[in-house]
Amino acid sequence: MRIVPPIYTGTILDGNAVRDQIKAECRPRVERMVAEAGRAPGLAVVLVGSNPASEVYVRNKTRTAAELGIYSEQITRPAETTTDELLAIVCELNSRQEIDGILVQLPLPGHIDSQRVLLSVAPEKDVDGFHPCNVGLLATGRPGLKPCTPAGVIQMLHRYQIPIAGRHAVVAGRSDIVGKPMSLLLLQENATVTTCHSKTPDLAAVCRTADILVAAIGRPALITEKHIRPGAVVIDVGINRIGSRAEAERIFPASRLADFDKRGSLLVGDVHPGDMARLASAYTPVPGGVGPLTIAMLMQNTIEAAERRAGLA
Ligand code: NAP
Repeated sequence: MRIVPPIYTGTILDGNAVRDQIKAECRPRVERMVAEAGRAPGLAVVLVGSNPASEVYVRNKTRTAAELGIYSEQITRPAETTTDELLAIVCELNSRQEIDGILVQLPLPGHIDSQRVLLSVAPEKDVDGFHPCNVGLLATGRPGLKPCTPAGVIQMLHRYQIPIAGRHAVVAGRSDIVGKPMSLLLLQENATVTTCHSKTPDLAAVCRTADILVAAIGRPALITEKHIRPGAVVIDVGINRIGSRAEAERIFPASRLADFDKRGSLLVGDVHPGDMARLASAYTPVPGGVGPLTIAMLMQNTIEAAERRAGLA
């Protein structure tokens, strides 16, 4: 275990508190929709197969919708469902007036053409913000539905009044779901943005130039003290479950190892938690940082889609 004196006292960016704020702002919008359009916003979640993690995510989404007064329905189909069958389900949802948002839970079983399915969602109902139309709107700075996780990160920075304009933001990761839209959103906020990926030589040197460092790479605690400029704001998007005790010893202080022994695994982000807490001026913990924001932003997107479709936006 390393014993290193603290350099900066990190402010913990509390995702649960921001999620609760966003949810509180959703409620009056749902009430207004009911009062003025005569119906609640509607969300359809499509789940194919029986991936336990996906089942938990879908349950949480429909539960949060119910809590906010958003109408939701879950469409569950067996793993053997074909691409054509799924396309027919999406097509029907596209045509239903009371459905404002359609979410196809990923990952889909390997035999399904995920790209075709995602392309079939009507862009105005694409509450995940994955359709190329919405990606194009984001890239050109026009209003549209934005991917939930990166949009949640921007909300977090705004609500903690962390300046973005003029800062150097480094995004580690370039996935279509997180990294790329994150870079575009930070650019829209007038940051100077560098996007890194697995072919970036000397990732640590680039990350060390960041005022705002966003890690979205899906590698447990890959980002360590050598990547973090003291005083930087660090946003850890990663959610990784580690099951190896040796890895737990590398990442966690001795006080957490009892937890590991009890549960057989622990959650960790893409950033080494101790290094982040010691060096960052502000940071998102895992769990309890970016994670809670994704569902809140999905609710916000559903309401936004509903307001636009009902002419209330
Ligand atoms: P992904 O699709 O696997 O993309 C990972 C990205 O990281 C890729 O662009 C990859 O580069 C890059 N990368 C991988 N290893 C790297 C390395 N050693 N150095 C530099 N870059 C590297 O993952 P994702 O869907 O974006 O998710 C990223 C993480 O965020 C995961 O832990 C995921 O669980 C988490 N996540 C959290 C939420 C939330 O709600 N908080 C939502 C979504 C995802 P290449 O493009 O070159 O392969």
